[in-house]
Amino acid sequence: MLWPLLVVFAVIALFILRLSWRRKLLRSQSDARAEIERLKEVHRESAAQLRSQQEALFNSMIEGLLLLDQSGRIQMANHAFATLFDLQIDMRGKTILEALRLHELAELVESLGAGGEVLGHQLMLPRPSERWVQVNGAAILSGDGARQGSLLVFHDLTRLKKLERAREEFVANVSHELRTPLSLIKGYAETLLDGAKDNPELAGKFLQTINRNAERLRLLIEDLLTVSELESGRVTLDLQPVALPPLIEKVFNDFKARANPKDIQLVNRAPDLAARADIGRLEQVFGNLIDNAIKYGRAGGSVTVGVRAMDGAQLEIFVQDDGPGIPAAALDRLFERFYRVDKARSREQGGTGLGLAIVKHIVQNHGGRIRASSQIGKGTTFFFTLPQA
Ligand code: ADP
Repeated sequence: MLWPLLVVFAVIALFILRLSWRRKLLRSQSDARAEIERLKEVHRESAAQLRSQQEALFNSMIEGLLLLDQSGRIQMANHAFATLFDLQIDMRGKTILEALRLHELAELVESLGAGGEVLGHQLMLPRPSERWVQVNGAAILSGDGARQGSLLVFHDLTRLKKLERAREEFVANVSHELRTPLSLIKGYAETLLDGAKDNPELAGKFLQTINRNAERLRLLIEDLLTVSELESGRVTLDLQPVALPPLIEKVFNDFKARANPKDIQLVNRAPDLAARADIGRLEQVFGNLIDNAIKYGRAGGSVTVGVRAMDGAQLEIFVQDDGPGIPAAALDRLFERFYRVDKARSREQGGTGLGLAIVKHIVQNHGGRIRASSQIGKGTTFFFTLPQA
């Protein structure tokens, strides 16, 4: 009687045991699933975080960056790239030719070798952006050397190119300016040596020309040194309160000998105000502006200098003439080195073409601004600001 009962109990116990195993198994399976989901979520979050970190890093770069996939389609472009190429729409998924129509760039991408070496090339972007760009590219390779895409880095060279062009123009201008008086000096000296020295009248004339051109060279070299000193940023100003009426009077006295033969009146309208300035440099500013006003002014006319106090502890100073004036198109270029409205007239008057460039630098070094306003036939006025003492 006992055996059958024992068997029944054993079966029931086994059944209960199996049930509890199964429950445990199910529980651990669902725990594992939850853990997998949690890990997936963690992975998704860290991938998204990594992506946004990468994007922030790429977008904070000054260089433009372009990432292409295996088939040469744009995968990612940073902000600097979009600004450089003036692109407003999303370029992802397009090829270089579709997005930029730049054959040179497409060819560069094609030529990126399997060795992963960096290739460089300079591009001139067409209008409207008209920029010079240095592009460096490299193929992106997987561990087994298979090509996975390409990376292009763009560096804007426009500013450097402009500086380079300005420097070349400056050197060409300087050479030209120096060559003219120098060849005159050489020519007349050779003529004297060839026999003209024996004719006292001719010799006197030639020596005067030589002297005039040597003086022109001296002025030019002096102005060149001043410009380069001012542009180097090495100039230190000795800022002091400078009473303006007596300084203007002093410069007028220095220029009387030039104004009198043209019967030009020099009028000092400055009220009793003082600027905070370097007196030597300010005298140079007045000297250049008053010299120009006399040189290019009207015979029998006048040159007036005045000052007014403005808001914000600034002074505005003006130098005005009643000469023939300057065409509006030339006003913006007046302060460029070697720019002359009338080349022949400037040379004839002994101008170097550097006076206004020097004036602009000195005013700017004082924290001021300069501008010119003119009416043809009525005259020209130069205005500049300085801090009030
Ligand atoms: P420059 O040595 O030739 O005088 P500046 O730099 O002083 O060189 O002046 C540049 C050019 O601006 C001059 O060549 C002249 O054509 C023009 N200019 C300057 N000041 C006057 C003025 N007051 N009236 C008319 N033209 C002027």
